Amino acid sequence: RSKVPRGVCSALAVSRHVPRRPLSSVNAYISHAPSRQDDAPHRVDGLGVAVKDNIAAAGLQTTCASNILAGHEAPFTATIVTQMQRLGYSVTGKTNMDEFGMGTHSTSSAYGPVSNAEPIPDRSAGGSSGGSAAAVVTRSAHVALGTDTGGSVRMPAAYTGTYGFKPSYGMISRWGVVPYANSLDTVGIIAPSVPIIEHVIHSIREEHDPQDPTSLPASARARIAKERTSFVPSQRDMPLRGFTFGLPLEYNIEELDPRVREGWSQAVDKIQDMGGRIVPVLLPSTKNALSAYYVIAPAEAASNLSKYDGIRYGERAEDASSDAMDGVLYAKTRGTGFGAEVKRRILLGSYTLSSKAIDNYFIQAQKVRQLVRMDFDRVFKLSNPLRDESSFDLSEMDETIVLENKLGPSQVDFLVCPTAPTPPPKLEDVARQTPLDSYMNDVFTVPASLAGLPAISMPMDIPTDANSAEERHLDFGGLQLIGQYWDDLRLLGVAKELA
Ligand code: GLN
Repeated sequence: RSKVPRGVCSALAVSRHVPRRPLSSVNAYISHAPSRQDDAPHRVDGLGVAVKDNIAAAGLQTTCASNILAGHEAPFTATIVTQMQRLGYSVTGKTNMDEFGMGTHSTSSAYGPVSNAEPIPDRSAGGSSGGSAAAVVTRSAHVALGTDTGGSVRMPAAYTGTYGFKPSYGMISRWGVVPYANSLDTVGIIAPSVPIIEHVIHSIREEHDPQDPTSLPASARARIAKERTSFVPSQRDMPLRGFTFGLPLEYNIEELDPRVREGWSQAVDKIQDMGGRIVPVLLPSTKNALSAYYVIAPAEAASNLSKYDGIRYGERAEDASSDAMDGVLYAKTRGTGFGAEVKRRILLGSYTLSSKAIDNYFIQAQKVRQLVRMDFDRVFKLSNPLRDESSFDLSEMDETIVLENKLGPSQVDFLVCPTAPTPPPKLEDVARQTPLDSYMNDVFTVPASLAGLPAISMPMDIPTDANSAEERHLDFGGLQLIGQYWDDLRLLGVAKELA
């Protein structure tokens, strides 16, 4: 029995064509729920939720798109999946992804790359939750669960023309979600429209999960809820009147595709037409956020992934000696079990955590993370309920930070910026990218992750110089809205107005 309210079902239309090729060629799923083997979305009874393959659902495989977890069947169901089931959704299957969530294009999967759907089947579907976005855009599921550590729900949404929401850190339980980088990991939702996401968040936002130590305690939820409101449009014709949107100037980088820049500027015009006020803001630590992320995330990943050794966890390499003492079992298992990108992250993380490098990398990155948080807290009108003001001694910060505190009053409700610097790239171009090129794509999504803030990517109209109507569909952009901590409901409300 579905508890999904009327209105949500009518909002299920996706802004894209139904694909002209079989779902299997999009490679959205790693495994299907037994009742949903036939790839036929129209035969789905009731509401379907596609679940990223790093989120456990009892009886189905959870492989994280890795050979090291090949055939691993989850003995239990993640809290978020149980919550979705309670809302009337049933699991359609487990979606393809970048191995362990490490990637931006869903091309580093042991099950082959995900590709975008018609009309752009040769493009990246984004990552790492690309399979979840592809499941939504091909309508094999009404909604999909992904994880967003540094943009993995927002990026696929931007590349597929869907909505991708990363909630405040600690809002949705991660019990049953395979960790990538614990201090950043969130469960996110990909949907064809905002009301579906809103419905889920409205239903579960107050639920603390004692099984997840990072789930915000009930007392804190209650305290913060008092300071937070839902979105109430002030006027029918000017729904955004009274809201101020910050335009972070640092996001206008040289590498920004001119079409994305134009789309961003058109979105700003639209916000103003709807009564919103736009102010430029400075978030000076943004430029260091990406480097900090790529130190912190691999460090946590290296630590998390150490348990896959063929002894405690993980598929043991067939020809590995059974003698763990000589290290061969361990080396062979991990050598064959992990893909290249995961190995790269493990090496990176092990290095930055080593006694030789920790001060110069890991500790510095943590400091940058604090500065990124402070940047956000400085511009938002709402204060950050998790921040203890007394713990910041500005005299200990270097002088640029003190200067930055003079950069203007706290005046914005939301920040508005692109999700990705370019439209979805061709898969053949992605294959030629260096790892660094790929990391660069995350430049706009990692700051909100480092600060634990809610953010949503929504389809953004971008201009096209294509001549034919066919080609005009080829360009997709994502507009990102970022809110203060636990301001998720207002953020979703504003996104709904803007959609
Ligand atoms: N692309 C980023 C990374 O590889 C983000 C991934 C994610 O959010 N899971 O780390």
